[in-house]
Amino acid sequence: MEYKINCIGILTSGGDAPGMNAAIRSVTRAAIFNGIRVKAIYRGFRGLITGEIKEFQTQNVSNIIQQGGTILKTARCTEFKDAEGRKMAFETMKNEGIDALIVIGGDGTFTGARIFAQEFNVPIIGIPGTIDNDLFGTDSTLGYDTALNTIMEAVDKIRDTASSHERLFFIEVMGRDAGFLALNSAMASGAEAAIIPELETKVDQLDELIKNGFRKSKNSSIVLVAESEITGGANGLAERMKREYPEYDVRVTILGHIQRGGSPTAYDRILASRFGVAAIDALLDEQRSIMIGIVNNKIVHVPFTKAIKDDKPLDEKLVGVLHMLSI
Ligand code: ATP
Repeated sequence: MEYKINCIGILTSGGDAPGMNAAIRSVTRAAIFNGIRVKAIYRGFRGLITGEIKEFQTQNVSNIIQQGGTILKTARCTEFKDAEGRKMAFETMKNEGIDALIVIGGDGTFTGARIFAQEFNVPIIGIPGTIDNDLFGTDSTLGYDTALNTIMEAVDKIRDTASSHERLFFIEVMGRDAGFLALNSAMASGAEAAIIPELETKVDQLDELIKNGFRKSKNSSIVLVAESEITGGANGLAERMKREYPEYDVRVTILGHIQRGGSPTAYDRILASRFGVAAIDALLDEQRSIMIGIVNNKIVHVPFTKAIKDDKPLDEKLVGVLHMLSI
């Protein structure tokens, strides 16, 4: 059965990430270019339930490509986890004449979208927007490159003080249970090591660090730590150091929300522009319940089920590279 799409709804959901605005711009303009109306839904799935919606023209997305955060706001909406909430969301879609949705977010957002699409036969396309880069099927997610650069700049500054005082710094970065941010920011900032959840189940990374004599030829050491219960986070590791290796002068920095903010890098703006156009192309091509991704610089379509369920593998060879370069 042919399903003509006259009007789409667009929302951002879950944690905000730099590049979301660039994606909102791109989706809006690509849709209008193709003769499709665009309704902006505020505060993620909550706006779909409460009807906080406004029609966008091309000028509504002027001057936002360079802005961090999301002009549509975002929210964690627990009501959408209930069938009743999703029914209300569908009623809103019908009342507003919205035929399809583009959702920008992470795995929680796609989990909700997948259930909603199945229940009400709604065409939905996802755009991966999270600084964690933890979605399967795409080399990069929106915001990841910007967050990496933000971390790198912060670590450069911390290194100045670390080397003046000959200290060991544990710098905790975001990533939930994924080590992409920690490992690659460690590489980019020339840190001694990264302690990441993916490896913690295989080796005791703190013991390895000490065993390898990481500090012998240095007057300061920087170790990037992925926030995670598995690694214990920077505070957990510092406590262990105090108990087991009290001879070290250890300091902790938790970078926190600074990692989410800021103007997106050129890479994230270009990615967002390509993702937005690809999302509209996919809808017109009658694709459903897929996430747009990028692999080897080519746009790909990843079913929501795969993007959510499969664990994204981290290239453990990179740990070897980091190790070799930190002697
Ligand atoms: P990030 O990776 O940045 O945290 P995310 O998309 O994973 O982003 P979540 O807070 O996990 O962020 O999810 C965003 C929203 O998706 C939730 O607030 C909720 O509205 C919806 N959602 C998440 N899980 C489900 C679910 N199982 N059923 C229905 N909706 C869900």
